[in-house]
Amino acid sequence: MGLLTLDDIEKAQQTIHSAIQKTPIMPSAILSHITEGNVSLKLENLQTTGSFKLRGATNAVLSLSAEQRSAGIVGVSTGNHGRGLAYAAKNANVKCVICMSELVPENKVQAIKAQGADVRIVGRSQDEAQIEVDRLVNEKKMTTLPPFDHPDIIAGQGTLGLEIVEQLPEVQTVLVPVSGGGLISGTALALKTINPDIRIIGVSMEKGAAMFESQKAGKPVQVPETPTLADSLGGGIGLANEYTFQMVKDLVDELIVVNEAEIAQAIHHAYWEEKLVIEGAGSVGIAALLSGKVSSPGHCVLVISGSNIDMKLHKRIIDGENVNVALDQG
Ligand SMILES: *Cc1c(COP(=O)(O)O)cnc(C)c1O
Repeated sequence: MGLLTLDDIEKAQQTIHSAIQKTPIMPSAILSHITEGNVSLKLENLQTTGSFKLRGATNAVLSLSAEQRSAGIVGVSTGNHGRGLAYAAKNANVKCVICMSELVPENKVQAIKAQGADVRIVGRSQDEAQIEVDRLVNEKKMTTLPPFDHPDIIAGQGTLGLEIVEQLPEVQTVLVPVSGGGLISGTALALKTINPDIRIIGVSMEKGAAMFESQKAGKPVQVPETPTLADSLGGGIGLANEYTFQMVKDLVDELIVVNEAEIAQAIHHAYWEEKLVIEGAGSVGIAALLSGKVSSPGHCVLVISGSNIDMKLHKRIIDGENVNVALDQG
């Protein structure tokens, strides 16, 4: 690896600290009881824009050259990265275009438009939206800031790891939601450099777990994109992945998957037992613990990565309805 170090993450923390929230860590009595451990929740659902994505986005935008800033930025996103980029760009007075697929829920599209970004809806997958990004890069000389496979993004997400050890120095196990792997790569780099004994576990949804399947195959592979309650975990890791595939291979101890029923149960638990409104992607750590997939967690931190869920969908889940998003979307 040798590309990114703890130093880069510490620099990112200096760069972004005044633009982001230092989110609280909250102990969970009930999850501690169920697992016979000491479980705490790192509440990135309370981050500005509703997810940790603002960390990487802010670090990347503030690291642009003057020339790059004046041409503007363009990104492809399932929602939260776009929202983070739009917010970070507006804060820095930089023009921002966000391209996304038709699968992205309407509430997330509206949230990005509300941040003042120019939204373009293209195709049925993140890969198709990427074609429009490439055009803007070539023709308008805009800078593309991808959602995970970029050193400034990974370093920004890694600031979460610094906060976790600072807030809970005795931490032994950290559960991190995984899609493209930017969050877990940065967080694991920070934590493992500070204390190599900290166990890092990545959690994805069973349907379309691109990083999980890629690590199993020993190289980046494509998986079919299907509707899931954890919509922020959708999308591939990129067949030409440069950073996160290798970092996950080197730094992550285990990757596990949870199914749709377990994700729904975790959203339900978060609301009724922890009094938290969280999205599917943010709930997969809770799902992993409730389904008994993590043995002896000890002092354990679950990264609750985001809150951006459609509130009508959320209401159905907390009312106990058996929700099937694949059928909803026909
Ligand atoms: C993007 C995102 C993830 C996954 O992050 P990666 O860096 O792509 O692995 C997890 N949870 C939420 C809420 C997200 O928006």
